[in-house]
Amino acid sequence: MKHNFISGQRALERLLEDVKNDCVRHAYILEGPRGIGKRTAADIFARAVHCTASPRPCGHCPACKLHRAGTHPDLMTVEPEENGSIKIDAVRQAAEELYMRPRIAERKILIIDGADGMNEAAQNALLKSFEEPPSYGVVVLLSENIQNLLPTIRSRGVKLLMEPFTAEKISGFVAAEYPEMGDKRDFVARYSGGNVGRAIELCEDEEFFELRRNLTEAFAAMAGGKASILAAAEVFGVGKGKVSAEYRQTCFDVLLSWLGDVALLKQGGAVVNTDMEPELRSFAAHITAKGALAAIETVEETLRGLNPSMKYDLWITNMLIKCWRDIHGYSSRS
Ligand SMILES: [Zn+2]
Repeated sequence: MKHNFISGQRALERLLEDVKNDCVRHAYILEGPRGIGKRTAADIFARAVHCTASPRPCGHCPACKLHRAGTHPDLMTVEPEENGSIKIDAVRQAAEELYMRPRIAERKILIIDGADGMNEAAQNALLKSFEEPPSYGVVVLLSENIQNLLPTIRSRGVKLLMEPFTAEKISGFVAAEYPEMGDKRDFVARYSGGNVGRAIELCEDEEFFELRRNLTEAFAAMAGGKASILAAAEVFGVGKGKVSAEYRQTCFDVLLSWLGDVALLKQGGAVVNTDMEPELRSFAAHITAKGALAAIETVEETLRGLNPSMKYDLWITNMLIKCWRDIHGYSSRS
């Protein structure tokens, strides 16, 4: 059940309370960052609305079984395209279907995931369902930022904010559910930024930790000779042909969090990579705060400037050479 542990527990509780008190509204808007559990909350809510036993959702009744199989005929979902946009036709069709009576349940539910991807026309196509819903209709919009929705839409729905958890709470969750993470749990809590979906992903991603170890070791060696540039470039995938955008982004994220920690240590702040504090301290001893900040700027500049038409290998190698200069140019030993 660990995947049902979602952030914004209060938002889900409120939804389930409406079900329990038999006062389900016609329109809800769940707002919160990506991966925080909006979809999970909406799915549990839909099951609870349709569930015919108790406690709702019971998980065993025919309605719950149909939901588990993803085949309940009175639940409609609209998903965003790969580029995040939502097709107006998909919205129109769902809105029309909403006006046809439910087939087996008392209520018909429409969930629109990534509702921010609806342009104005698509939102207008939905407006009628929001303003004059059929008595049995329930519409749930999932949004990362409700400012992306038209005021007319925003004002109609019950708005529920899904807030991130504190690092302490996520750390406790990781300790209970993933004891094998050991001293990495505080790192996971901080790196995931209060986003429990992200924390779960990290705990189940062994490759991530290998990448982090290789990259930070290679970068730590940058305090020494120029040969270390090659080692760091190798972790970035230089010379390996095509590197996925996701892998590349992970490299940048890891490097920035690690360099950020070095700068923080210099100023006496709390680090993100808590389990690597000895390594961080040893690297920090060889460079100045100014050097760390210059290297961060170099990495961020490179990240901003990257585009698919570029020769990736060249771009990364240039960045690392520049980082090496940043580190040594301001080195406390020079
Ligand atoms: Zn049930």
